[in-house]
Amino acid sequence: MDPVTIFVVATLMMLANGWVLGLMRRDFPVTLRPSAETWRIATLMLAGSSLLYAFQYHLPLGVASPLANGLVMLGCTGYWRALRQFYGLPDPRWLLAPAVVGTLGVIWFAVFQPDTRMRVLILTASCTFLLLASFELLLSQKTSEGRHSRRVMASLFALVAVFLVFRAAYLAARGASPSFDVTGEGAWINIASPMVTALLPVVGTTAFLLMCSESVGRQWQLAASTDYLTGLPNRRTLVTVGERRFGEATRLPGQTLALAVIDIDHFKSINDTHGHEVGDVALRHVAEHLRAACRGADLAARHGGEEFVVLWDGLDIDAAVTAAERLRALVAREVLHVDGKTVSMTVSMGVAAVGARDSSFHDVLRRADEALYAAKAGGRNRVESAA
Ligand code: GH3
Ligand code: MG
Ligand code: MG
Repeated sequence: MDPVTIFVVATLMMLANGWVLGLMRRDFPVTLRPSAETWRIATLMLAGSSLLYAFQYHLPLGVASPLANGLVMLGCTGYWRALRQFYGLPDPRWLLAPAVVGTLGVIWFAVFQPDTRMRVLILTASCTFLLLASFELLLSQKTSEGRHSRRVMASLFALVAVFLVFRAAYLAARGASPSFDVTGEGAWINIASPMVTALLPVVGTTAFLLMCSESVGRQWQLAASTDYLTGLPNRRTLVTVGERRFGEATRLPGQTLALAVIDIDHFKSINDTHGHEVGDVALRHVAEHLRAACRGADLAARHGGEEFVVLWDGLDIDAAVTAAERLRALVAREVLHVDGKTVSMTVSMGVAAVGARDSSFHDVLRRADEALYAAKAGGRNRVESAA
């Protein structure tokens, strides 16, 4: 195969990948769309440059070289920017500098002082910088989320950067310039170049789609399992975890499970007096105390409205009542200051531990709820334990 054919085939594959990404982008959540759009534009730029390389000898040097090389540098800038957008990072002010300076350099060494080796050097320097910036960005992500797609992507950026540097050194050492010669010794580099540079727009776009799909999956999972206002696990998570722990507590010897249903006292009057927004802050305030009180496998969840549930792993009823009493006193003590207002709150709590007569997690929850009722009836700001 000759380089012209490879460049044309690579262009078609890049266009196909850009097209697929364009179709899928519409189904992405709004948070991912800007990043996907930037990646698509970068891929189209590289497709344009690939087409220009295919027909470079039919165009004047002063036009083909700056255009093709400029598009490559802008494409690499686009990939870097797309990754920054993906991770929620703002554009640096000098975002376009490597591509603009590089393109001006290429124009100079194509039009005013034709020098192929200088053009190769400038293109290599600019692209390597941008590719390594993307590589570094991917490696610097500390979270283990999306680890696999990130590794594939980082490897691609590193591979292309290493190849570009090798190619520039190889051409310089041989005193050769990039050409379409496929017969002479060392001509393999002319065949390898379009293939390696097609890696990012083609394989890279697939890896990018994988990153997006993993991110969408994570967002869905988070949205389905957490409460939006407080960030605590929601009722669905509570029931799933609770049923599993109930099973363990009844099956395994020596295992216990206790829980408390917590309801803020006269919460409606907080909303009525200070407004719904202050009410929301108050809910987050209580949620924060509950979260902070959790240890190890304990779980604090928002059960709904102004009602929460805490699961204590390994506590019997007496220990759970002590823990609940501590929490009750903490909420009553820590007044909330918001917008110059002072909001004091109390909670009532019903505590229950898994007993021989409970046949499901819901039974324990129901008994704790009945105890909560008793706490409310007994004057609020108190802890009651279930029979
Ligand atoms: P009690 O001591 O008997 O529990 O009285 P209460 O006022 O706390 O209970 P009630 O059930 O009468 O009122 C609960 C209130 O909680 C009513 C509802 O508007 C409010 N609420 C529920 N969810 C939210 C929320 O997400 N944000 C805010 N600000 N208020 C909420
Ligand atoms: Mg209440
Ligand atoms: Mg309530």
